Amino acid sequence: MYLSNYHSHSLFCDGRGTPEDFVKFALSAGFKAYGFSSHAPLPFETNWNMTAADLPIYLDHITYLKEKYKGRIELYLALEIDYLDETYNPSIPYFRDLQLDYRIGSVHYIPVLPGMAEENMATIDGSFDEFEKAVKIHFGGDVKQLVKSYYQSSMSMVEAGGIDIVGHMDKVYMNGHRCSGFSMEEKWYTKLVNDYLHLISEKGLMIEINTKNVSRKQHTYPHAMFFPLIKELKIPVMVNSDCHFPNLVNDGRETGYDLLKEYGIRSTRELIGGKWRDVPF
Ligand SMILES: [Zn+2]
Ligand SMILES: [Zn+2]
Repeated sequence: MYLSNYHSHSLFCDGRGTPEDFVKFALSAGFKAYGFSSHAPLPFETNWNMTAADLPIYLDHITYLKEKYKGRIELYLALEIDYLDETYNPSIPYFRDLQLDYRIGSVHYIPVLPGMAEENMATIDGSFDEFEKAVKIHFGGDVKQLVKSYYQSSMSMVEAGGIDIVGHMDKVYMNGHRCSGFSMEEKWYTKLVNDYLHLISEKGLMIEINTKNVSRKQHTYPHAMFFPLIKELKIPVMVNSDCHFPNLVNDGRETGYDLLKEYGIRSTRELIGGKWRDVPF
């Protein structure tokens, strides 16, 4: 197994350690490759995104670390970029013009009211209380409507482009599955995910197996029930911990690999010397 992680955070956004703290843990765990993917700036300030003013400092700092640790670990410079709507997403020139090793595209916010402000967004990645409130206020109490909007945004993100990896592709189930009226087994839901996976495959993108919530919630994103289709469509995958704490760089990896193996997926796509390659495990 190629020890790597391409989805991680640090003090530049909502992570709880300097980038170098994360590198030290990755080195001690025997990692070969480690990528930084701070939450990219949004058009409004939040508790978890990098500010636009910090972006150049981030780019310089990770570039400096890449050089400093050369020969010991391959470090990569990336961003986790939000899809908000057609005006603000990974495909806009602001992001396209950056010199990055790769880009992760994620949907955390669904715009529910006009105007680019945090209070006009429903978040899928916050507390269950917030999620439930958003369903009630903005989706008429029908969780299906929120889930459909999430996949609409996700499909638009993949259509718009400017990304290499789809981040935690079905994370809406984290809170969604606790609402009545939501079941991952139902046709309306599996069809949304199936359509999404077909589009990801068509566009030649990679997806991550995000293990951030494996220890706490026993969730992977995507859920393993979709691994057979991922295998059938031959979508390249990698296992990412999406860590926010340095001691969690490797959290959930074993479960991620066990599940891949169980469903017959026997290679991960890895960045080696700056090129993506399939590595069997
Ligand atoms: Zn995310
Ligand atoms: Zn993340």
